[in-house]
Amino acid sequence: MTLLDQTPMTPSAAAPRGDSRLFAAGGPSFASHLERFGPLPGLTNAAALLDELQAAGLTGRGGASFPTWRKMASARLSTTPEQRSAAVVIGNGAEGEPLSSKDAVLLQRAPHLVIDGLLLAARTVSARDVYLYAAASQLAYVARAISERKDARSIVLREAPDTFVSGEASAVVNSIEHGRAIPRDHGEPLSVSGMHRRPTLVQNVETLADVALVARFGAGWYRTTGTADEPGTRLVSICGDVPRAGVIEVAGGTPVDAILSRAGVDLSTVRAVLVGGYHGTWLPASALRTPLSRRELEPFGASTGAGILMVLARGRCAITVAAGIADYLGTQSARQCGPCVNGLPAMARVLSSVAAMNRDPGLVDEVKRLAGLVTGRGSCHHPDGTARFVLSTLSVFENDVRAHHNGHCEETGS
Ligand code: SF4
Repeated sequence: MTLLDQTPMTPSAAAPRGDSRLFAAGGPSFASHLERFGPLPGLTNAAALLDELQAAGLTGRGGASFPTWRKMASARLSTTPEQRSAAVVIGNGAEGEPLSSKDAVLLQRAPHLVIDGLLLAARTVSARDVYLYAAASQLAYVARAISERKDARSIVLREAPDTFVSGEASAVVNSIEHGRAIPRDHGEPLSVSGMHRRPTLVQNVETLADVALVARFGAGWYRTTGTADEPGTRLVSICGDVPRAGVIEVAGGTPVDAILSRAGVDLSTVRAVLVGGYHGTWLPASALRTPLSRRELEPFGASTGAGILMVLARGRCAITVAAGIADYLGTQSARQCGPCVNGLPAMARVLSSVAAMNRDPGLVDEVKRLAGLVTGRGSCHHPDGTARFVLSTLSVFENDVRAHHNGHCEETGS
C-alpha cells in the first residue's frame, strides 16, 4: 500500500544526477513530472519519512533553516489521538521579499514536486486541511497542475498579498484565517496552536519539493551533492547589478563567487553582495569565496536565509542603495508594534541623511541607537532584520560613511 493514493503511470525513474534536481523535469506537466521522477514511493508510515528527512539533513528553505523533520514532527506530536485530522498544513510560496523569485520559479517549473511534498506533509501530520499560499500569478500554475491529477483536489489555494511580511509564518496563518496577512504575537508555537487553534505546519514550497525528492530517492542520495553541513541543492535568486537576474539551483555550500560566475556575473565588477535579501548582511568583494553555508557565513554575521544574492557593482554608492532599502522596509511595518512603526522610518531617515552627506557628527550613533531600540521589540522579526541590514551597511561600508561625513563619495566621485 502506498502512502499516497496515486497510480503509477511509469516505472520508478532514476534519481537525478548532478546539481539539477528540483528543475530536472522536462516541463511542468504531470506527465513530465512522472517521467522524470516517477510516482511517489510506497512509504508505509509517517515515522519512516521523518527518519529519512532527519538523515538527509534537510533544512527549511524559507529563511529560518530549521530542520524539516523536527518541524514536521512537532506538528505531528501536537495532534492528540482525539485531534486526529485536526492539523492543518500550509505550503508557503509567498515571497514578500522583493529580491526573491525562487519560489515563483519553482511553482512555475516544478509544481508537482511541491504538490507531492504538500501531500506527504499532510499525511505525516494527519492533516485534514491542506492549503497552498502564494501570489495570484503563481497560484495559476498550481491550479493547472492540480487539475491534472486526482490526488491533489483537496488542496485549497489562497492568495498571498504583496507585502514584505506576508510570508512570515504567523502572517500566513492570519491571512488564511482572517484575511489579514499580519504577524501575530508568538505565544504558543503554530505547531501547537495555529489556524483556529489547531496544530499547523507552515512549510516553504522549496522545502516541500525537497521532501518529495527525499521520499522518492532517500537520504543517502540526497547527500550525494552539497556538503556535510549543507547537503542537497538549494535555489538561489540572483539580482541587483547583474547582466540578467534569475534563479539557479546549486549544490549546498557552493562558494558565492562560483554561484555568481555561473550566473554570468563578471566578478571584477562586484563591489559587495547582499546575502539573504533585505534583512540580510553585506559580504565585501574580498570575501566572495565564502561558501553559501550557515557555518561559513556566520563569522560575517550572515546566513543563507532564503537564498538571495544581490550584487552591488563597483561605482555604486552603497549608502544610497542601503538608504533606499531601509526606506522601503520602514514602509513595510504591519503597524502593530510601536518600535517598528516609528523606529524603522526614523532609522531610514537618519541613514538617508548620511547618504545625502549631511555632516552632522551624531548621525551614525543615532542610527545605531535606533537599531538597538527596535531590535527584539516586534511581534515578528521585521525590526530585527531591518536593524541587522542597516548595521551591516555601517560596518562593511565604514569608509564610505566616513567619506560621506567629509562631504564626498569616493565610489561615485561625487
Ligand atoms: S514588528 Fe513590525 S512588522 Fe512585525 S508585527 Fe510588529 S509592526 Fe508588524
